Amino acid sequence: MRTVAIIAHNGKKAEMVQFLNENRTILESKDISLIATGTTGSKAEIAGFEVEKLLSGPLGGDAQIASRIAEHKVDMVIFFRDPMDKHPHEPDIFMLMRLCDVHNIPLATNPASAKLLVEAL
Ligand code: PGA
Repeated sequence: MRTVAIIAHNGKKAEMVQFLNENRTILESKDISLIATGTTGSKAEIAGFEVEKLLSGPLGGDAQIASRIAEHKVDMVIFFRDPMDKHPHEPDIFMLMRLCDVHNIPLATNPASAKLLVEAL
C-alpha cells in the first residue's frame, strides 16, 4: 500500500479536484491510499474519492502530514501551493517541504509535475 498526501491552498483547490478527476484511474487503484488536509480532503470526498482527512492546514494539517513524512508513512506528496497568496501557516508549509527533502519523498507542487509523479506510481 502506498500513501499519497494531497494538499491544496484555497486558490488551488479547483485545480486539485480537476487533477484528481483526470488521474482517477491511477489514484483509485487498490494499493493507493489518499490522505489530505481537512478542506482539501472534503473537496476530494465530494469528487468521490476515499480519503483520510486530517486537520485543516492552518489548524495543523500540514504539520500532521509532515509528521507522517518523518515517520515514513507517506510515499508521495502533491501540494498545490498558491504562490500568489500569503498563508498564516507558512512555517508548517516549509516544514512539510523540508521534511520531503530530508526523507527523499517525491513532492509535486503543480499539476504538471504531479502528473509525471502519479504516472510513475
Ligand atoms: P486545507 O489546508 O486543505 O484544510 O485548506 C491546506 C493548507 O492551507 O495548507
